[in-house]
Amino acid sequence: MNTIKHFLFISLFLITSSSLFPEDRPYVILVSFDGFRWDYLNRDITPNLNSFAQNGIRALSFRPSFPSKTFPNHYSIVTGMYPENHGIISNSFYDPGNSVWYRMNDTVQTRDSKWYSGEPFWTTARKNGIITASFFWPGSEQQDSLRHPDYYKHYDHYKPYRDRVDTVISWLQLPVNKRPQFISVYFHDTDSYGHEYGPNSPEINESISRLDSIAGYLLDSINDMGFKDSVNVIFLSDHGMTETSPDKTINILDIIENDKCKIYDSGPVMRISPPEASLNEVYNTLKKSENHFTVYRKEELPSYYHYSAHELISQLIVVADIGWSLVKSSKRKGYEHRISKGNHGYEKDHTDMHGIFLAGGPAFKTNYQTGTLWNIDVYPLLSKIFSIEQSDSIDGKLERIEFILKERNN
Ligand code: AMP
Ligand code: ZN
Ligand code: ZN
Repeated sequence: MNTIKHFLFISLFLITSSSLFPEDRPYVILVSFDGFRWDYLNRDITPNLNSFAQNGIRALSFRPSFPSKTFPNHYSIVTGMYPENHGIISNSFYDPGNSVWYRMNDTVQTRDSKWYSGEPFWTTARKNGIITASFFWPGSEQQDSLRHPDYYKHYDHYKPYRDRVDTVISWLQLPVNKRPQFISVYFHDTDSYGHEYGPNSPEINESISRLDSIAGYLLDSINDMGFKDSVNVIFLSDHGMTETSPDKTINILDIIENDKCKIYDSGPVMRISPPEASLNEVYNTLKKSENHFTVYRKEELPSYYHYSAHELISQLIVVADIGWSLVKSSKRKGYEHRISKGNHGYEKDHTDMHGIFLAGGPAFKTNYQTGTLWNIDVYPLLSKIFSIEQSDSIDGKLERIEFILKERNN
């Protein structure tokens, strides 16, 4: 009798524990710390992130795609595509054919799937029966029901960070048939403080510590969960930050006086659409005055930029040298007060534009330090972890990143 009871007890335990803690199901939490530059981890103020890295993967840096801005890069991370291919070519850009702007703070446009190409990971996951969730991610609020995660939130800049983590944990505590296996979550702190006070300020250090505490809170909360051993966590950032100052500005209107030119964006990159008849003249004028910036015709932009294919990229692209700011200001008005102490958007290969990539959990090697990883390679990495087929025609390559996984995943 006792043996039967014992047998029943063990069977019940196995059935319950396998449905509560299904070890064969991977979980991935993808955490973005906006503007968290690669070297912020070397300031001795990030104990949680550093000890997490020691038990997993730490990349020297994480290379963004050009332009090193928030929206293009978050979408590159989840699609494995360069902005020229996924369509979010900047935080704001104009479609002259339809006379409409995409702007990151215009929710009508950010939710309209017509701007987005490629397949975000949550769509690939859904096709394979994997439930996904997101607590904020650029491109996650698309109205097309196939193009957003199963659970997602409308962006609220002021949502307390701990609430975001608590919600992620509550999603992980849902019954298995409702529980997301892929969850992304976003924190803006280091980006905001980096712009306002610069990447070398006491204020950014406080911001770095704040996010490190949030990382600790998330990791502790996961540790308290029954199936913690199935959970992988990736901490990454979309780009870095460099010091900018009012004495390093280029007023484009001091150089081109053609008032028929359409000029888009400012700061590290400007896109210029002159009238067809004056394209050469405007290009030549800019070329002759190149000083702390470089002008390219769209088709001559070096291929490493990966920024020519999209039809909404203007004919001329002006890229400022690191730390310099392009402005468009009528000569009478001052613009110096508008230059922040830090910015990003510059060439993706400058290390100031590089972010972080740390990963830990059952899928990853432990105590492994690698060189620079590329953000377009995260999508194929996720597909590999979940053993699902990636969408074709992506720019990312599994071969460049696969070595960070434990052998059994290869
Ligand atoms: P930037 O530094 O200009 O490249 O963009 C950073 C800003 O993007 C943050 O301060 C947020 O306000 C904003 N942002 C980030 N994610 C979202 C989102 N999902 N929806 C709307 N705005 C966002
Ligand atoms: Zn950003
Ligand atoms: Zn920013």
